[in-house]
Parts: sequence; C-alpha cells; structure tokens
Amino acid sequence: MLSDRFQRKHTYLRLAVTDRCNLRCRYCMPAEGINFAPRQELLTYEEMLRLTGVLKRYGLKKVRLTGGEPLARRGVETLLRGLATQGLSIHLTTNAILLQPFIGLFQDIHVAGLNISLDTLQPERFKTITRRDEFSATWKNLLAALEAGLPVKINCVFMRGVNDDELVDFARLTQHYPIDVRFIEAMPFNAGDGNQDVYISAADIHARLLAALPNLKSAETNFHSATDRYTVPDWPGGIGIIPAYSRSRCGSCNRIRLTPQGELLNCLYATDGLQLRSILRAGGSDEDLIHLINEYLGTKAINGHEAERLAGLNGRFASMTTIGG
Ligand code: SAM
Ligand code: SF4
Repeated sequence: MLSDRFQRKHTYLRLAVTDRCNLRCRYCMPAEGINFAPRQELLTYEEMLRLTGVLKRYGLKKVRLTGGEPLARRGVETLLRGLATQGLSIHLTTNAILLQPFIGLFQDIHVAGLNISLDTLQPERFKTITRRDEFSATWKNLLAALEAGLPVKINCVFMRGVNDDELVDFARLTQHYPIDVRFIEAMPFNAGDGNQDVYISAADIHARLLAALPNLKSAETNFHSATDRYTVPDWPGGIGIIPAYSRSRCGSCNRIRLTPQGELLNCLYATDGLQLRSILRAGGSDEDLIHLINEYLGTKAINGHEAERLAGLNGRFASMTTIGG
C-alpha cells in the first residue's frame, strides 16, 4: 500500500505545519504582500494526527515537520508528542530561531533528525538573505542542539553571488563538528523571479568542492535519500549535495507532502493535489481516506521533470512555505 505505478512505496511524509514564518528568506518568499492561509483553513493538530495514524497503518514510517517555520505554530508540542505516541520516526526542518525551549522535548521523544537551515556564517549577510537580524539566535541554538546530542544537519541553499564564496567555510564545519552540511540547489519557488540568477547546479557544486577539497570521497547514502553524500577522511561530519532542481535522485522517491491546508502532493513539482481537509471535515472514514490516497498516488509522475511537464502552465512555483521544501 501507499505504492505508485512504479512500485515505489511511500513511507515518508513531509508535513508543512504552517505557511507562516519568522524569516523572509529571499529565495523562498517575498518581503511582504503574502497571502497567508486563514486559520480555519489550516489542518488542526487533531486532523494531522488522524491522517498520520491512517497512513501509519498502511506503511508510513517517517514524518518531517516543516513549513513555513514549524516551531512558530502555537502548541506544536501536541503534534510532536502525538507523532511520538504513534511510533513514527520524527524529523524537523527549522530555521532554529525558536529552537531552544524545544530541546528537552526533542530529547524525550527521540527526534531522529533535525535539519537546520543556515545559508551563511556571516551575520550581516544573514540579514540580507533572510531580511531579519537573527544570525546569533540560529547559531547559538544550533550549537545547543549539538551539545544536547541531537542529530543535526545544516541545509544551505547555495547561490551564485550570494553565498558561494562560503563553500569551504561551510564544508570545514564538518571537520570540527559531527554534522552533515548539505548544499541545496536553488529551486524556482519564491513567489517571485524564480531564483534564476542565483542557480548553481549540483554538478558545479561538486566540481567546486573537489577543487577545494581534493580528498573528498563519495560516501554511502540511504537508497531513498535525496542527497549525494561525501566525506573527507578523518573529518567527523559529512558533506551533501541536494540536486533539488536537477532532480537526478527522483527514481527512488518515497515521499509524499501535506500542505498546511491539508492538500496531499505526490511530488514537489506536482500541481494537482488531493484535498484531504474537505474529506476529513465531511466525516470521511479511514477507508475513504486510504482509498483516495492510493488512487492519487497512482497518478504520481516518474520524476520531477515529468511532474513539471504535466503541470504545464498550471505550475505553481509559488513560495516553498506552502510546500514545505
Ligand atoms: N522554515 C524552515 C526552514 O527554513 O528550515 C522549514 C521550511 S523551509 C521551506 C524548508 C527548506 O526549504 C529549507 O531548508 C529552505 O532552505 C529550503 N528552501 C526554501 N525555498 C527554497 C528554494 N527556492 N530553493 C531551494 N531550497 C529552498
Ligand atoms: Fe521561512 Fe524557511 Fe522560507 Fe526561510 S526558508 S522564509 S525560514 S520557510
């Protein structure tokens, strides 16, 4: 169950808890004029847990909370504890600004992965990229999470003329900390110009890394991972490249996505989602839900290029805050 036409089993849900955020990263959303979803359109935590419970019965194993900023939605502890009770492997992607008070809870519920988004190690540049002056909170909380023994990775959207002079500074964090740093290709989801000017391909990132670190070795990754992973001998961390736009790792995709308004998406580049909120609120049974979800998964494209082609002129390419990255 939860399979598509290509026999891919979907065991991993990326759950966007909210479309709101305490940053305004330029590659993700505009400075202002954003139409956030009205509260009544957002799934409640109870509705989210109902869906994860049903999906778990049909093979779901891993949930990643994302957004928007997942830690910015009030009461998110309830959701986290509920997912832990359901026995799911819990992961989060966060900008870490609000992380500190959650550290004890994350330890209690054994959070299995904490991806912290950080695109620069320079406070002034952080302000330019995110339009907010929060570098010190992010960095302090990242170190606190590491100190607490949480499994931390850094997500860095790698952009021409913006932060590409920091490649080695980021890579060298893996020499000093047991941390994976992942360089992400910029995708055209910013509700604006589509990040065309700043895009650097995964192949180019790899070539630049090799030039700077000739010792770089290819490392094993999980079959379903979206990351090409490398290590430098004797360095405790790892370096990843995420070909989010060139989409070279789609073949083994095991992901589904749920927007804050309860729309299920079978691909990051899909436009035709399945609106689960209305089914939940109309009293749909678990059987109704799983039947429709399986039917929808049957329409999943073989890869993100095909999904984008099928979307045609309907391609949403809006902000990543509604899709969850
Ligand atoms: N607010 C949280 C954060 O930033 O970690 C979670 C949501 S954010 C949309 C999830 C991930 O998507 C982050 O790592 C972010 O850097 C990445 N992202 C957002 N817009 C992107 C874009 N246009 N291209 C590539 N990655 C993007
Ligand atoms: Fe907010 Fe994350 Fe988007 Fe930055 S990338 S604006 S932190 S949702």
